[in-house]
Amino acid sequence: MAIYAGLKEIPWKKIFHIDDVNIEIGKEFGDQMWDAIQQQETLDTNERNIHLVDTLVDIICLQTGGNKGKGNQLKREDFKVHVIVKDQVNAFAMPGGHLVVHTGLIEACESPEQLAGVLAHEMIHITEEHVTKKLIKEVGLGVLASIVGGNGEIVREVLRHLSSTAYDRSLEKEADLKGAELLHNVSINPEGMAEFMDYMANLPESKAMENLDWLSTHPDSKDRAKDIREAAKNFGPNKKYAKLNVGF
Ligand SMILES: [Zn+2]
Repeated sequence: MAIYAGLKEIPWKKIFHIDDVNIEIGKEFGDQMWDAIQQQETLDTNERNIHLVDTLVDIICLQTGGNKGKGNQLKREDFKVHVIVKDQVNAFAMPGGHLVVHTGLIEACESPEQLAGVLAHEMIHITEEHVTKKLIKEVGLGVLASIVGGNGEIVREVLRHLSSTAYDRSLEKEADLKGAELLHNVSINPEGMAEFMDYMANLPESKAMENLDWLSTHPDSKDRAKDIREAAKNFGPNKKYAKLNVGF
C-alpha cells in the first residue's frame, strides 16, 4: 500500500506529457527565437532552394491526409519553413512550427530523399513538441513563462544555451524512427534518411561545427543509420516508393 501511495505522488503527467498551456508558451517563445535568429542571419533568396524544401514539406503533409484513421495527419500551416545562408550542414526545429534549414544542408544532400529524411526528422521534433520539452526541462517553465515577451537579449541567451547542450538521445531517436515511419507512410523511401546519417558520420568536425541539432549526435550517426534501417523492416508491407520528382 505504501508503495502504491508513493507511486501516486509521482507527477506522471509532468513526466510524460506537457499540457496545452505549456505548448502555447513554447510556441510564443519559438516565434521570439525565430525573430532573434532572423535578425542575425541572412535569409536565402535562391528560388530553387526555397521551392525544394517547401515542396518536400508540402508533399509530406499532403500525403498524410491519405492515412486516415492513423491520427497522423499533418497540417501544412503548422510548419513554417525557413532557409538561411550558412555553410554548416544543419537543420533545426523550434516551437511554433519553425523549421530552419541551412543552405549547407541542401548542398550536402545527394538526393531529394536525403533532404526529405532530414525534414521529416525535424517535423517530428515539431509535432512532438521536443524543443518545448527541452526548454521546460532546462530553463524551467516559470523562467520560460516570465521571459516570453521579454527582450531579445534574454532570448538570444536561451538560444546560446540550447545550442550548447545536446538533445536528449531519446528525443533524437524518436525523431529518427517516427520520421522514418512518416516517410514510409507518405511513400518516400526512408533509406534516404539512413544514407544521410552515413554521410554525417563521415563529415569532418570542422564542417559540422556550431550545429544546433545534428552535431550533438554526430558520433552516433553510424548507429542511427543502423537503427533506422532496422526499424524500416517493420514499417509494414513492402512499398514501392515513388521517386521524388521535385526539381532536385
Ligand atoms: Zn534532431
